[in-house]
Amino acid sequence: MLATSTPPVIAVVNQKGGVGKTTTAINLAAAMVEAGHPTLMVDLDPQANSTSGLGLDAARARLNVYHLLTGEATAEQVIQPTGVAGLSLIPSHIDLAGAEVELATMSDRESLLRRALSSTPPGIELILIDCPPSLGLLTLNALVAATSMLIPTQSEYFALEGLRHLMYTHQLVRSRLNPRLAIAGIVMTQFDGRTTLAWDVLEAVRRSHPHHLLETVIPRNVRISEAPSHGKSVLQFDPTCRGAAAYRALAKELLER
Ligand code: ADP
Ligand code: MG
Repeated sequence: MLATSTPPVIAVVNQKGGVGKTTTAINLAAAMVEAGHPTLMVDLDPQANSTSGLGLDAARARLNVYHLLTGEATAEQVIQPTGVAGLSLIPSHIDLAGAEVELATMSDRESLLRRALSSTPPGIELILIDCPPSLGLLTLNALVAATSMLIPTQSEYFALEGLRHLMYTHQLVRSRLNPRLAIAGIVMTQFDGRTTLAWDVLEAVRRSHPHHLLETVIPRNVRISEAPSHGKSVLQFDPTCRGAAAYRALAKELLER
């Protein structure tokens, strides 16, 4: 049975690697599920970090997001359960890297994911897409399928330049491909309040993007970085640590926005 309307779709996006996209996608998904909202995660990164971080063997997923994009499989066929009840996953695969070239030759190549997600199983209240660290065709598919962008940003010197570029991309996608694409927010991640630079960058982002910067700041927290090697979200791995609390707060803030 397929739902007729698609739930909200949040693309977790930043062209820079290592800023916390995958970490945010996994832990925000876990927090949304904990808050009572069954969530589907789409791993759109050929590195398949959110697939393995949720405890699935990325090498063994027979059907993955590639088959979904090419139309060889339906959403229902590629969706897998995870160790978190209420959180399902469309896994990725390293072969997706080569597939990007192949996808480029397909007609409607920016809308493959949107079409594939237009019929998802009932009961899913939110879809989160973990994007690769580029603004290539895969990320473009995420932005066309999405209703909003969530932008994890690290407190470092080049953060503002990256944000400018992302906002430009947002405008471009809105005007040409997906007029409904909103900004869910900018979330500062791996925040280390002991450094002056972290506070300076936070202030600079607040000044340049006052409406988009989220109040919730994700602290640098070692439990967050340990959780994926156990195939768990930090909410399961250490439910009372600062990292888990921060991701719960992020879910709450996004639900209230
Ligand atoms: P991306 O998906 O943007 O490339 P990741 O989510 O994979 O970034 O994060 C990059 C690295 O930083 C990973 O090793 C991850 O465990 C670590 N990391 C992310 N967020 C935090 C955090 N809040 N505290 C500590 N380590 C973090
Ligand atoms: Mg990642």
